[in-house]
Amino acid sequence: MSSIETIHVDGVWLPAAAGETREVLDPADATTLQLVSEGGAQDADAAVAAARRAFDEGDWPRTAVAERSALLRRVADLLQRDREVIALIESRDTGKTLEEGRVDVDDVTNAFRYFADVVMNESGGRVVDAGSPDVHSVVVHEPVGVCSLITPWNYPLLQASWKIAPALAAGNTFVIKPSEVTPLSTVHLIKLLVEAGLPAGVANIVTGAGLPVGQRLAEHPDVDLFSFTGGLVSGTKAGAAAVSGAKKIALELGGKNPNVVFADACATDEGFDTAVDQALNAAFIHSGQVCSAGARLIIEESVRDRFVAELARRAEKIKLGRGTEDGVECGPLVSQQQLDKVEAYVASALAEGAQLRCGGKRPEPSDVRPASGYFYAPTVLDGCHREMKVIREETFGPILTVETFATEDEAVALANDTEYGLAGAVFSGDTARARRVAARLRHGTVWINDYHPYLPQAEWGGFGKSGIGRELGPTGLDEYRESKHIYENLRPEPVRWFAG
Ligand code: NAD
Repeated sequence: MSSIETIHVDGVWLPAAAGETREVLDPADATTLQLVSEGGAQDADAAVAAARRAFDEGDWPRTAVAERSALLRRVADLLQRDREVIALIESRDTGKTLEEGRVDVDDVTNAFRYFADVVMNESGGRVVDAGSPDVHSVVVHEPVGVCSLITPWNYPLLQASWKIAPALAAGNTFVIKPSEVTPLSTVHLIKLLVEAGLPAGVANIVTGAGLPVGQRLAEHPDVDLFSFTGGLVSGTKAGAAAVSGAKKIALELGGKNPNVVFADACATDEGFDTAVDQALNAAFIHSGQVCSAGARLIIEESVRDRFVAELARRAEKIKLGRGTEDGVECGPLVSQQQLDKVEAYVASALAEGAQLRCGGKRPEPSDVRPASGYFYAPTVLDGCHREMKVIREETFGPILTVETFATEDEAVALANDTEYGLAGAVFSGDTARARRVAARLRHGTVWINDYHPYLPQAEWGGFGKSGIGRELGPTGLDEYRESKHIYENLRPEPVRWFAG
């Protein structure tokens, strides 16, 4: 298979300087999907130099806000034009279903449109009352500079867009390094940025591994802002390298997200059905490879037996297979490494006393097509407790653990008993209780009687070790801007502080 050039520096598509390539695998059958350029530190340096030049000498940072906004809108239109193509790329690369790929394209289209709007709304600066008619005081926003953007493999297009759209809206230039496991949709997105008319050098991409490319982008002295989405271990390591150079940093890390279900949510048949359905969706969409996955079901003891029995019955029926096939509900895990990790978590949970209610194995070859992919059956582990590794650590796979509570205080304590704090949900038929519990949850997003929806206009990010900073919403734009206070004395005269 011939390799495609996936490094884009200063408006030119290139092979890696060292001539290296990498096989991107199709997780549904472990065959090679595409050969791509495998960049190294030299490629990262060239990309940063291009972004630096484009920022210091190019037009983009000084382009009128209305023009930048119009470009983002053109990108949104191009994303919609290529919706099916991109959904297919994302499905083949990550394993997710085609429909999930389409949803991702629609979501990122909305994100581009949102940032196109929000930057226009705020383009005039904020006049500050300086307490004197002789002073004009205004706070304006300016781009931060050159941004290093690092993204993970689970939502490649979406995570890239949540960074690229606000970075461009604010007038920055950037170098992005997508995950080496799933780089293809980000490469396509860069092509759309070029097609939309972005000047050369503004958007650069280096495909390659965390070490050396990601690390180099984190520590590079000519980078002004480092924004990372990925796991806690690599994120803190890369963040430390970035911070030692006094860059601005934003880290979007993992989650261990509680889904709290009160018995009163299940008082009616419809309520019960909704809560079970949402718990399945929370835990198993994209085979659980979601940073906000509701992997911890925390359920009131009195409804546990009925709820878990129904959950396991339905989880067993989830149809696994290649994400592009009709009727498939869950694709494979992204890699052999991820599959091994998930198997190890289930083994450790069983050794620590969890009871397996369904799954706990790779599906039989006859149950899934193709049979050679990285599939793992949706798994429900009952009787879990907070000392278990599977409760404390992010598994990032189709594993749903069950813990129980008797009181509201106990539910809150369990839900907050995590070093992370990305997202969580509460299901209750009692509005006052649901709001009370939501207010006490130490997580960046809390859903009431729902799971997973997010809005481009609402901030996304986590408490605790889920990260530093926020994406989306007005704060997501501010991450990419410097504030500058301009104080203008309209009647200058000596201050006479010094007598001589
Ligand atoms: P990962 O941390 O292994 O890799 C993420 C990115 O970092 C990849 O591009 C990788 O090449 C790069 N990288 C690895 N080591 C690096 C280093 N030392 N310096 C610089 N870059 C380095 O994560 P992953 O396995 O790709 O993704 C899964 C993780 O991402 C999960 O923990 C998940 O919770 C997290 N995630 C978080 C969010 C969020 O919004 N908070 C969203 C999606 C995924």
